[in-house]
Parts: sequence; C-alpha cells; structure tokens
Amino acid sequence: MMKKPKITYVSKSKIYPAFGDAHESPPRIKIREDLPKAVKKYVLEHEKYHIKDWQRLAKENKKYNWVWGEIKACVYGVLKHPLGALLCGIMTLHPYRLKFYLQRIKKGE
Ligand SMILES: [Zn+2]
Repeated sequence: MMKKPKITYVSKSKIYPAFGDAHESPPRIKIREDLPKAVKKYVLEHEKYHIKDWQRLAKENKKYNWVWGEIKACVYGVLKHPLGALLCGIMTLHPYRLKFYLQRIKKGE
C-alpha cells in the first residue's frame, strides 16, 4: 500500500522552472498553483507515480533509474490526463503558443 502523499500548491517562483516536485519520505508533492487545471491534474498523477515507484523499488530493494522512472511517470500521466499532458507539453515548449490556443478555444474557432 502506498502512503498517501501530502499535496501542497505553491507559487510559481518556489519551484520554477518545474511544474511539480515529489519527495520520497515523508511522501510530499508540490504543484505550481498558477497552472491550468488540466495541467495540475496531469502533474499530480505524474508525481504520485514517482512516489509509488520509489516506494515499490525500496521495498524490492532495487535501484532507481531516473530516466526510466521519468518515462514511466510520463506515460502514466498521459494515460490518466491526456489533455493535461498535451497542454503541459505545449507549455514546456512554447508558452506563448498556449496563450494563443486558449484564446482560440475561448473564441471557439
Ligand atoms: Zn517526473
């Protein structure tokens, strides 16, 4: 069983340039409060996966590989919140484009 992480929403300046951050023990997750809702949901699932992954590996006495861990957490997050992952990707690459998309969505074109 996974120990429930404590989740806190923090200001952009606290964890910039990251969107979220996970800590193994005690299990804690920080998420940037100014992100769009869908992105926050995606980041939360992503960070939750990291903690589950770390706890499982620790129990099995296995070494953590951060590249593989990142890939697994991303895939898991994408499956749970595809829209949030998509927005997250757009924001990572081109923040100005997200603004453009949001304006278009609002205008409905
Ligand atoms: Zn990660």
